[in-house]
This record gives sequence, structure tokens and C-alpha cells, in this order.
Amino acid sequence: MSDPLLTDWSLEGTARRRDSYYAASQAKFVPFAEPIVFRKGRGQYLWDNEGRKYTDLLGMNVCISVGHSHPRVVAAATAQAQDLTHCTTMFHHPTPAHLAEELAARMPKGHDWVVHFTNSGAEAIDLAMTMARSYSGNLDLLALRTAYHGPTAAAQSVTGISGWRHPGMPGNVAFVAEPNQYRGIFGAGTDPYLDEIDRVIATATTGHLAGILIESVQGYGGIIEMPPGYLAGAADRVRAAGGLYIADEVQSGFGRTGAQFWGFEAGGVVPDIVVMAKGLGNGFPIGAVVAKRQVAAPMAEKFLFHTYGANPTSCAAARAVLAVIDEEGLQANAARVGAALLARLKDLQERHAVIGDVRGAGLMLAIEMVSDRATKTPDAKATAAIFEACRAQGLILSKSGPHQSVLRMVPPLCLSPADVDAVAEGLDAALAQAG
Ligand code: PMP
Repeated sequence: MSDPLLTDWSLEGTARRRDSYYAASQAKFVPFAEPIVFRKGRGQYLWDNEGRKYTDLLGMNVCISVGHSHPRVVAAATAQAQDLTHCTTMFHHPTPAHLAEELAARMPKGHDWVVHFTNSGAEAIDLAMTMARSYSGNLDLLALRTAYHGPTAAAQSVTGISGWRHPGMPGNVAFVAEPNQYRGIFGAGTDPYLDEIDRVIATATTGHLAGILIESVQGYGGIIEMPPGYLAGAADRVRAAGGLYIADEVQSGFGRTGAQFWGFEAGGVVPDIVVMAKGLGNGFPIGAVVAKRQVAAPMAEKFLFHTYGANPTSCAAARAVLAVIDEEGLQANAARVGAALLARLKDLQERHAVIGDVRGAGLMLAIEMVSDRATKTPDAKATAAIFEACRAQGLILSKSGPHQSVLRMVPPLCLSPADVDAVAEGLDAALAQAG
């Protein structure tokens, strides 16, 4: 009898099985015109089924923080899986308990932080929304346009990009304009966007808030940084209306922005709830809500149980991730290598008219394509063509933004200075060919 686990690695076989057996909802999201099968990853690199090498500037959707298949992370998860793969959270296990202690220690000092583990970012967002509503006694939440917070119905309800919003979302969410300094509806600056929060509270809510959700740097929205004073100003306004400040660090956390470990730290704000996932597990599924103790306390009235939440295998991986970030100096590397890459992107902007904007910090960077720099008309067609040409240059990026006109770069934090040269040269060639 043949091995029942035999894997057919061919592109044709994989495509045929996907086409035959994946639901439309799962099959739809494919980035390239021609599909690609990845077989191996190491550090910041990927190899396809035919052995072609790529630099992974997408980090498998920002999940790969410390490098693909990092030996330390894989060893920690393997050791745990061999001993006890799963221990449901109703029983005591030291690995998630250690991880909770270690995450609390990464939070701003002077507050009493507690942790609830989930399996994904969206579950953590759901929980944060429920926590804020339970604590405040209010229902209304604010979210930002062009935000992305996840696929569950509740996370969709605070996602501000229509292409990710499906029928049946819960309500009680009002959106404020994102303070996009390049193409925001109020132009550049902070105050008009804070005035907008006041206006939306006064007109589109009951006036009594549960909270606001903000990605400290918007990810799928196209690497939208929050201008100086915005996070603190938003927190003040929402707290004055009875609500909490919820920081979504799913993409911007774990040292990715370089200058700080959490994106919100750049904004001088201490959140009431912090949501994290992705890079915490370096590919092992895990999410977490870290909240001030008093904010989490009212949830003790009822049960809330994520079957795999606090799974020790993922938690063992996450403990190793935190250790590796420190031991390998990856936050400092993100700052240093990110600054070098940003400078190269700015140089490309000077030579390629299609690049309307270059932005980001650390290893959370983007270029935005426009058909006309004066009108800033988003150019999705050029973006798609450059994206495909990058693949031929061995670069995997991400098409992002509400107009699909942004190429987002969120690589593993171990990207090296030599990679920066290769990325800049590959992008230059792709822009010359397709821009
Ligand atoms: N928040 C942000 C900022 C995200 O980018 C994502 C996922 N892309 C989520 C939440 C949801 O995380 P998950 O896909 O793990 O549910």
C-alpha cells in the first residue's frame, strides 16, 4: 500500500486539488497571476517547489518575525509537542503561564497587566471588543477607515475596507477618517483627524463609548503611520466618552517598527488593551489580549473558552520568539536595516515617477504607486505589474491598501544589509520593466 501521507509537490497537482476542493472563500486570495508553491523557508528566504530562491518581504503575512523555521523556535515547539502537544487551558501548564508573565513584562511599567491567549488575531480582536463593552457598559466602538482587524464577524465589523466586509456583521461601530498623511481626506496634520473623532462621537454614536481600535501602524491599509499626537489625542477623546483605547499590534508589534517594541509606544499612549498575534508565534498559531487587570476583571462573570488558547506548543514557540528577538538584537536590526531600505526606496522614488509615496519605519515599509504625482491617482495596474515583475526578480512583496496601489514590505526581522542591496536592485529592475 502506498504511503497515505505521500505529498504531491507539483504545481499542477496542488492547483487542481485547490480548485476542486477549496471553497470559494478560501480559494480567492491568491496574489500572483500564476500560482506559486513554496516548499522551504530559512531566515528571510523562501524556496519554491522547483528550488528557486526568493526574499520574503511579506514574512508570510507578517507571521515570520524571527526568520522562517528558526531552529530555536522549531526546537522549542517540537520538544513541547513531543511531551504534551495540547493541554487545554482549564488545566494548569507552566509554558503559557511563563509566556503570560513574559508578555506582561514587555508592557508599559506602572500598570498591572494580564493575558488571555487565543488562537488568532481576529479572536483576540473579538475578545478585546467584548472586554471593552463589558468593562465600560457601553456598546459603541470607533474604528478607523482602511483598518484591517480580521476575518471573524466581529473583527470584520471594525474593518474599514469594504472588500473584507461580508454580510452579517454586528453593529455599533462608527468609523473615523484614517489620518493618512499622504492622501487622507483632511490632508496632512493631526488636528483635523482628532476633530473628526469629536464629530463622529457627537453624531454617529450614543455619546457613550466602549472604545476605539487602532492599528498603531495600519498594515493592510497600506502602511499608514499615525501622525504625532494622534494616538494620545484619540485616547483622550475616547476616554472622555467612557471608552477604552485598544491597540492592535498584530502587525506592528515585536520590534518591527525598530525604534520601539510596540508600535503604540511611538504615540506616547498607554493602551487599556493590546491585541497581538502573527509574529508572536513565528508561524505557530497564537493570539493574545493583554489588558489592564481591572479592564479584564468583569469578564469573570461568565465563561469564555478558546479550545486551543494557551496551547503549550504554540506558547513554547512564542517564548522562544521573544528570547530570539532579544538574543539576536532583532529590534535594533529592524531599525538599522529598515532605515537603509527606506533610504533606498526614497532613491527609487526619485528615479521612478510611478512611486508617489514612500513611507514606514523599521521593517514595516511601503511604496505607493500613482498614475500622476499631482493628482495622486492610485495606480493598481502598475502596482500589479511591478508586483509580478518583482517575483521574477526573486522578491515576494504584498499588494495592499484600499486601492491595491501599495507594495508593502514586512519581512522577517533578520533581513540583512546585503538583502537591502538585492531588494533595491530587484525593485529597480521591476520598476524599469513594469513601472
Ligand atoms: N489585526 C491586524 C492588524 C491584522 O493584520 C490581522 C491579520 N492580517 C488581524 C488583526 C487578524 O489576525 P488573524 O488573521 O490571525 O485572525
